[in-house]
Amino acid sequence: MPRIVIAGAGMVGASIAYHLALRGTRHVVLADLGGIAGRATGKAMGGVRQQFSTAPEVRLAQASVRLFQELGSPLFDQVGYLFLATTESGLVELEERRVLQQGLGVPVERVDPSLVAGLETSDVLGAVFCAEDGVADPAAVTHELVARAAARGVEVREWTDATALDADLLVLACGADSAGVAAAYGVELPIRPLCRQLVETTPVRGLPAALPMTVEGDTGFHFRRRGDRLILAMREPTARWGAREEVDEALVEDWLRRLHRRYPPAEGARVARTWAGLYDMTPDAHPIIGWVADGTYVACGFSGHGFMQAPAVGAAVAEELLDGESSFALSAYRLERFGGESLFPETVVL
Ligand SMILES: Cc1cc2nc3c(=O)[nH]c(=O)nc-3n(C[C@H](O)[C@H](O)[C@H](O)COP(=O)(O)OP(=O)(O)OC[C@H]3O[C@@H](n4cnc5c(N)ncnc54)[C@H](O)[C@@H]3O)c2cc1C
Repeated sequence: MPRIVIAGAGMVGASIAYHLALRGTRHVVLADLGGIAGRATGKAMGGVRQQFSTAPEVRLAQASVRLFQELGSPLFDQVGYLFLATTESGLVELEERRVLQQGLGVPVERVDPSLVAGLETSDVLGAVFCAEDGVADPAAVTHELVARAAARGVEVREWTDATALDADLLVLACGADSAGVAAAYGVELPIRPLCRQLVETTPVRGLPAALPMTVEGDTGFHFRRRGDRLILAMREPTARWGAREEVDEALVEDWLRRLHRRYPPAEGARVARTWAGLYDMTPDAHPIIGWVADGTYVACGFSGHGFMQAPAVGAAVAEELLDGESSFALSAYRLERFGGESLFPETVVL
């Protein structure tokens, strides 16, 4: 049997290793330059949603939710995702997406936003909610998948450069480092790092356990509960391209003000912790999945939503590596698409 080396023990690499192991594959090595979930995965918000704007992304997310449901609390809390529209154009977009998502079988519905007690909704023109969505603990989920893979025989090597290992098949799941790693194999990947940041508040008394991920669709401001705190994020006014992982302090107080206004029960909350990490962006915000050279396969470019898609991606990649094809349609994600006209940008990048 060929020796398969997976470069990167973030959520994507971990899920590929886990799904190869589920199929009884022998001679699999999962290697990371650092520790498990030490990069983007460990810094992620942990949002798990099916509410995307394009059918391929919705399908990846739908297939992934099943694994999160199986993991259950405290790794995954199925508290739902609530999208709010505060402008007429935002409402139109919300409605168009709802129709697409419902048509694909996602149980997303129009709701009265006051279903979230305490939420300020006087400026809200409409809202949609999907009860199957939720929030997860990205590092803990990844450690769980790695442990399951190791229990089925996958060799896990932290602090190891995967490209230095003997491999018949090399799978690059290196997140924002992927373009640099692939370049050594003569492969050009159109992936650019984008710096993004999160803010964790001080404890907020009486946070409801079922508080959904709440997203202002028009501004991109969103927040979730983690324990007795809230985690805040937002699309930034000026994209910060590059590999520097730095918190822009100028944004932090603005986000806190937005939280106090949208969710008055958090009025006393202050900033406890901030951190920054990298999205691995592609030109259309869809991942790149497939063979790129003889013996070299990539699964990267997840553009800020790879944690939630990793379960389906891991299963699909394992199928393609072992069977030569996947039951899951991966054709939308091939590297070759960037040479043609068939780009279909995903617009819900939070
Ligand atoms: C601030 C922030 C918030 C986010 N929020 C969400 C969210 O709410 N929901 C969501 O789905 N996604 C979110 N994401 C995106 C998500 O974190 C990633 O898409 C997802 O975790 C998949 O990561 P990955 O495994 O592809 O990459 P990473 O987690 O970055 O892992 C790649 C690994 O490759 C390793 N590596 C690199 N080169 C080598 C080499 N030569 N040999 C061995 N190992 C190597 C690195 O050390 C690293 O550990 C967020 C990201 C950030 C930064």
